[in-house]
Amino acid sequence: MKTINSNSFKGKKVLIRVDFNVPLDQNQQISDNTRIVESLPTINKLLNDGAALILISHLGRPKGPEPAYSLRPVAIELQKLLNRSIYFTRELFGEKTKEVAKQLKPREVLLLENIRFYPEEEKGDEEFAKELASLADVYVNDAFGTAHRDHTSTSTIAKFFPNEKYFGLLLAKELTHLDMVLYNAKRPFTAIIGGAKVSSKISIIQNLIDKVDNMIIGGGMAFTFIKALGGKIGKSIHEEESLQMANEAVNQMTLKGVNLYLPTDAIIAKNIANGEKPETCPAENIPPDMMGLDIGPKTRKRFAEIITKSRTLLWNGPMGVFEIDNFKSGTKAIAIAVASTTIGGGYSLIGGGDTVAAVNQYNLADEVSYVSTGGGAMLEYMEGKELPGVKAILD
Ligand code: AMP
Repeated sequence: MKTINSNSFKGKKVLIRVDFNVPLDQNQQISDNTRIVESLPTINKLLNDGAALILISHLGRPKGPEPAYSLRPVAIELQKLLNRSIYFTRELFGEKTKEVAKQLKPREVLLLENIRFYPEEEKGDEEFAKELASLADVYVNDAFGTAHRDHTSTSTIAKFFPNEKYFGLLLAKELTHLDMVLYNAKRPFTAIIGGAKVSSKISIIQNLIDKVDNMIIGGGMAFTFIKALGGKIGKSIHEEESLQMANEAVNQMTLKGVNLYLPTDAIIAKNIANGEKPETCPAENIPPDMMGLDIGPKTRKRFAEIITKSRTLLWNGPMGVFEIDNFKSGTKAIAIAVASTTIGGGYSLIGGGDTVAAVNQYNLADEVSYVSTGGGAMLEYMEGKELPGVKAILD
């Protein structure tokens, strides 16, 4: 991996694709600045070298230039974090932007407006890439959260810098941690997969079968597996069309000697609402008018036992509807077990928006080994797919 640490960039103009796709509240205030903070090592290294920086990011999924998706709040936050003024420009191809980029001096920073205001971005447009590339001497990709997208600023642009393209420090760090669990895991290695949809995570489950010793499946997706194995799941969330894939995955696990742990009891209620009176019942025998919304106490204990005996943990997806108090105990129990295993010397990697939010909710983010900033990118990498943003730098 050719990272920016392999060179000094004194006097160079460096275009960095960062991932400043941060959550904003109704008042356009940033509610979590993690992604900006995580990009600072790359920005600071290049500024200390004496480079001039042009930063490109997207924010959300605008349909054209919508003010609600402007990067202005990010520019303000970045100024605070860097403790220096930066240039922020609302236009991209305009003469003004090009002039600012041209005049940019060493240790100055220019942030371009949301790159997804331009329809060319998501099309991987060559002309657009060439235009952007003309602004700089060097290209750095540090946008792990967007590395699974084959877009102009994440992949097409790299070909215009055949000898001057580098991995940013965040992107390199993410890949190093993911590779560590995928290829160098200490055993026993346990994957904990939860969340609502099997179809979105079946490929990661399939890819992990060859790598893990234990597979813990919780959350709503467990009910597709329980149904596939003949259980009665009442009104629980499940995907009829994924039953066969679930069955095949179970067979593969048996063949490969992977221990599969599914919930044995569940917290059930008539509806997903806080006022509902929760009850506990066997996970494979849920009454027809009830739905499973969290793992039950026996399952919490069993899953925690498996987790604390592991040396490597990979966790993606909550164990229940953790957003609602009545159904958060399962996710909380897993978060505590993962943190205590890490404190005991195990290695833990956590990813996915909901899982990271859950760990933050219990103030345990500092107690796990690594929290990935990319949800979709992490899943695709774990599935064994080559990420276009990574490939573009390696090619
Ligand atoms: P995903 O995006 O697939 O990781 O799913 C995350 C969502 O799954 C969260 O919003 C949870 O509330 C939801 N979830 C987890 N367990 C259940 C369940 N048993 N029934 C319905 N939704 C669930």
